[in-house]
Amino acid sequence: MVPATVEWEDLRHEILTCQRCPLAHSRTQAVPGVGPNTARLVIIGEAPGRQEDLQGEPFVGAAGKLLTKLLEDAGIPRKTVFITNTVKCRPPDNRPPTQEEKTACRPYLNRQLAFIKPKIIALAGRVPAEALLDTSVRMGTMHGKTHQQKGHTFFVMYHPAAGLYSQTKIPDMEEDMEQLKQLLDDESSTKKTEATGQLSLGQFLADE
Ligand code: URA
Repeated sequence: MVPATVEWEDLRHEILTCQRCPLAHSRTQAVPGVGPNTARLVIIGEAPGRQEDLQGEPFVGAAGKLLTKLLEDAGIPRKTVFITNTVKCRPPDNRPPTQEEKTACRPYLNRQLAFIKPKIIALAGRVPAEALLDTSVRMGTMHGKTHQQKGHTFFVMYHPAAGLYSQTKIPDMEEDMEQLKQLLDDESSTKKTEATGQLSLGQFLADE
């Protein structure tokens, strides 16, 4: 069996050297993702932009700075989250990725998610939401909520760039992030209860 660290590093190397679609010719470098491969929360954006293409890390430009602030303000340290994109290379002029590009790149995302097994997968914006959910996406009604599909818990949130274009969206984005923090807290307290085998009141009284 291949050791887990080797499997993860192989996947990263495959992404960095990928030639599966035309973006391989226009990119500076591929951007596999950043954060622990044991993260409980994965955030998926659309595709790297100019800064990400130059620095090799997702969400480091203006939208990324807003994402980091929203996360930190809600009490979710960015360094605890694995952050990646639907497509790992920058589309020229930041155009949306094509279907061909999304299809070519999808196995990488699937393998990252299968390796990490996150508790919550947050979809930042329409592109990742449409790629991962088997439903038509209406951001206005779907953001800030979980959607259970294929054994995963997905959480839909606005893309942070939405807050740069329209500051009126920021309160909603802050609320979504608080909701996400609550979900993570609820999930970890359920796990602690299971781990300590905490007794229900009925069991507790029966043992008295
Ligand atoms: N927008 C994205 O969707 N992803 C990034 O990494 C940066 C900006």
